[in-house]
Amino acid sequence: MKGMIPIMEPDLSGNEQKYLLDVIKSGWISSKGKYVEDFEENLADFHQVSHALAVSNGTVALHLGMVSLGIGLGDEVIVPNLTFASSVNTIIHAGATPVLVDVDLETYNIDICQIEAHITARTKAIMPVHLYGNPCNLEAIITIAEKHNLLIIEDNAEALGSTYQSKLTGTFGDVGTFSFYGNKTITTGEGGAILFKDSNTYEHAKILRDHGMSPDKRYWHDHIGFNYRLTNMQAALGCAQLERIDEILARKKQIAEKYANGLSKIESIKLQKTDAGAVNSQWLFTPTFTEVSSKELMNFLQDKGIETRPAFYPLSSMPIYSSYKDGEYSISEAISKNGLSLPTFPTLKNEEIDFIINAINEFYD
Ligand SMILES: *Cc1c(COP(=O)(O)O)cnc(C)c1O
Repeated sequence: MKGMIPIMEPDLSGNEQKYLLDVIKSGWISSKGKYVEDFEENLADFHQVSHALAVSNGTVALHLGMVSLGIGLGDEVIVPNLTFASSVNTIIHAGATPVLVDVDLETYNIDICQIEAHITARTKAIMPVHLYGNPCNLEAIITIAEKHNLLIIEDNAEALGSTYQSKLTGTFGDVGTFSFYGNKTITTGEGGAILFKDSNTYEHAKILRDHGMSPDKRYWHDHIGFNYRLTNMQAALGCAQLERIDEILARKKQIAEKYANGLSKIESIKLQKTDAGAVNSQWLFTPTFTEVSSKELMNFLQDKGIETRPAFYPLSSMPIYSSYKDGEYSISEAISKNGLSLPTFPTLKNEEIDFIINAINEFYD
């Protein structure tokens, strides 16, 4: 194989250039312009919901989602211990306190059986994260949330196109958030979005996104807001990307199936398991490689020109988050130690997948 196979690569081969050029020619390069509205409408239509709010990135999507729901000082938010730091940082940015819960060995997602033990009088919300695209057990989470009167912040940054009981993830929570960073399923360079259960929350978040300024009276502020807007240039990319979402998702599914078949002979490679009734959109195909050192495997593949990506560190293992620990985290630690993501992007060629599978088999031999 010539050159390096990256872990991820955006596919900008559709109308991306055309729409971006259109924006530049129009002069509407900031956050006013038709592509922002089109992107929001297309994203809402794809999810069969009435509103989507485009924002600057997936991190502020989480922050704005929580603030618009009134989550803040004194509140606790339950969050998995194995996720990107952004999930937890934004809880802290909102003034609330994250409570770290260990994950499930098979799905890598928050351990449903451990959630209730972490609920206190101050618990305000649960933040399920669909790790690597794999949907959480939303039925169980919704049942717990209803029983204890909790909000749900669905961190759907990695799961665009995943479904649970035939419904797209990101539509289950009081808010559902997305990231369009360069390595995500679709990208706008930097970007994010929020879906809302309640249209009043959407209206409120829309005002907060734009400095808290009154929509009826310019430069009159009723709220202390933010500038979390997406630019028309970014939205132009988003519109072009969304046009090809079905194609992108279909290819990622094929890639994951090819990996699963190719690695099935090695028993100690465990694939991330998806709950019955759920479909993983395969953001990143991430098995755990037990009985070998995943670090050695990573180096071995690197030498062959294959980039891989280590699983997240458990948040509990980093001193900066130690005050949010609440119990043991042996499962997050195990997945973190053995998990390795393989290249999972739509333009990855079949012969490259075969090459990767052969290299892994060779390492095990
Ligand atoms: C990518 C990601 C985010 C943050 O998105 P950005 O657009 O990079 O700010 C949040 N949560 C999870 C789980 C992510 O993977």
